[in-house]
Amino acid sequence: MIKIRDLTKQYDHEPLFTGFHLDIAKGDIVSIIGPSGSGKSTLLRCINGLECFQKGKISVDELTIYGTLEPDYRYKKNNGVVEDIRRKIGMVFQQFNLFPHMTVLHNVMVASVHVLGINHPEAESRAMGMLQRVCMEKKAKSYPGQLSGGEQQRVAIARALTMKPEAMLFDEPTSSLDPEMTDDVLAVIRELVSEGMTTVIATHEMHFAKSISRQVIFLEKGKIVESGSPEMVFCNPQNIRTREFLSHFT
Ligand code: ATP
Ligand code: MG
Repeated sequence: MIKIRDLTKQYDHEPLFTGFHLDIAKGDIVSIIGPSGSGKSTLLRCINGLECFQKGKISVDELTIYGTLEPDYRYKKNNGVVEDIRRKIGMVFQQFNLFPHMTVLHNVMVASVHVLGINHPEAESRAMGMLQRVCMEKKAKSYPGQLSGGEQQRVAIARALTMKPEAMLFDEPTSSLDPEMTDDVLAVIRELVSEGMTTVIATHEMHFAKSISRQVIFLEKGKIVESGSPEMVFCNPQNIRTREFLSHFT
């Protein structure tokens, strides 16, 4: 479903990805692990069109974004494809990114009204349905500032799901949560995965990554150092860097 070919991405002339390739099949569950600064967030942001890249291409089914040396021309050159990709792929961030001045319900509805052009009553019932899924329907009238971090993250997931995405990208969705809230959010992700959602998750939750993934990728300095099934990467890592990295988590 997602094909990354020859991706070259640099920030301020500092290369991060060079000739990077990755395939993610429909229904796949991929965990991206690796040290801070290895490029996990950048990779997810490139897939979702939030970050421009200099060379290569990223395809999501029939939609392709091409690298360009002129970041300002990204949208022009890619001619609406970035927006189409964002409609197919939902993304959830470490810091939730809810609109603080809108109620929970309004946060979850806003994209279906403005992006999909769905009428108000239908958008509202869709949003309530999604809030029920993440057990947040009772807080529909609250504002983000009145919720715990875990609750805000569940609302952020509901918001992404209202767009009926075909895949979800999670960028360290539990990094700012305490263990109890982490479990609530991971339970929601686990449920999505069990329903067959194509899922890519950058995470430091190694136990979760081990139990949920089909494919684990260990990234360092923009390169895939090791990848494979969770059994291979976690129980029998071949690369010394993977072993060193994982030793911090046991
Ligand atoms: P973490 O585990 O800390 O979230 P990460 O693996 O997600 O790290 P990225 O955020 O993708 O790493 O960053 C990869 C590299 O790119 C880092 O060296 C970072 O400093 C650099 N970088 C990221 N965003 C920018 C930016 N907007 N401008 C300049 N450099 C950036
Ligand atoms: Mg990151």
